Amino acid sequence: DLQLSTRVQAIKPSPTLAVTNKAAELKAAGQDIIGLGAGEPDFDTPDHIKEAAIEAIRNGQTKYTAVDGTPALKKAIIAKFKRDNGLDYEPNQILVSSGGKQSFFNLALATLNPGDEAIIPAPYWVSYPDMVLVAEGKPVILETSAETRFKITPKQLEDAITDRTRLFVINSPSNPSGMAYSLEELQAIGEVLKKHPDIMIATDDMYEPILWTGHDFCNILNATPELYDRTFVLNGVSKAYSMTGWRIGYAAGPAKIIGAMKKIQSQSTSNPASISQAAAQAALEGDQACVGEMVKAFRERHDYLVKALNEIPGVECLQGDGTFYVFPSFKGAIEKTENVTNDVEMAEVLLKGAGVALVPGSAFGTPGHMRLSFATSMDVLKEAVARLKKALS
Ligand code: PLP
Repeated sequence: DLQLSTRVQAIKPSPTLAVTNKAAELKAAGQDIIGLGAGEPDFDTPDHIKEAAIEAIRNGQTKYTAVDGTPALKKAIIAKFKRDNGLDYEPNQILVSSGGKQSFFNLALATLNPGDEAIIPAPYWVSYPDMVLVAEGKPVILETSAETRFKITPKQLEDAITDRTRLFVINSPSNPSGMAYSLEELQAIGEVLKKHPDIMIATDDMYEPILWTGHDFCNILNATPELYDRTFVLNGVSKAYSMTGWRIGYAAGPAKIIGAMKKIQSQSTSNPASISQAAAQAALEGDQACVGEMVKAFRERHDYLVKALNEIPGVECLQGDGTFYVFPSFKGAIEKTENVTNDVEMAEVLLKGAGVALVPGSAFGTPGHMRLSFATSMDVLKEAVARLKKALS
């Protein structure tokens, strides 16, 4: 028998990709499926970004680059942090990776020893717990509910902290809940973290610009600047600029750990694709109007979808703060649907019966809910809502 490592046996494939694949399979088999599982914007990458990549190819920027990113891209990232976030970084505090996913993977591998605990609020991005497990750390999940708009309280964090806590992860605005923490809420969480100097903090700002709270974006460092020496800001171009396929993410933080993450990357994937780096630089340095246009469309769809979902019996949906997801409760619908006892079964029934692909909340650590992505056209959303209504009425 071929032997598998215990490491790989501790993890599962990404459930969101699994739903997307399942929907694609049924589609290929000729079924009429509407996929609301996607975790990527439906817009094309803006032209000026594509042009920069084409130019890079023509210019011969087709070779290895520095492992941690080209100096030009790092300069653009440093300028972005200054401009948008009021944060100062030196080049040795920045690591460019092949997507935000690799940034977090490098961080987990560079900071966790076997048994070290990483505190992760639920609902969480599906990959955090599994990446912690690959690093042989222990995910400690904090449950939340619609009552707190899926946000943790400072007390919850305080109660979860032990001698083994090494990492605290916060993602705002959140995939999948769509909720963002206010500056005041972040300050209260920051007060707890200030008391525990051995804990490192990862703020995942991947959805930064996709926000409609009426307030400026803020992260834990804006709220509690004292945490600068142990906080990692993770961001990327995937969601903001509709560049998921280009695979560029970046991390900023204390030089010692960023250097360790770079070492891991140097012995695994090396530099992210040179052409994608040129594209990412153009995204960060270019006109930001393209972002605003996409956000405007997301918000219109959000507003429509929340209203429409709340008209479906057994479905309850809060207004979100941003991202391109909503995370309604399907508890009522689950209760009254025959042969369905949980969100996973509900998702299956809706996929096979109504031809609508959603991701069950269990995948994000919050059962009873569903994640619907509205990174698709209004027409498709309307058809999806009609099908859900029919199936659940
Ligand atoms: N962080 C969050 C919260 C995400 O939702 C995603 C993508 O789904 C990522 C990070 C990683 O993005 P990528 O690796 O595509 O840059």
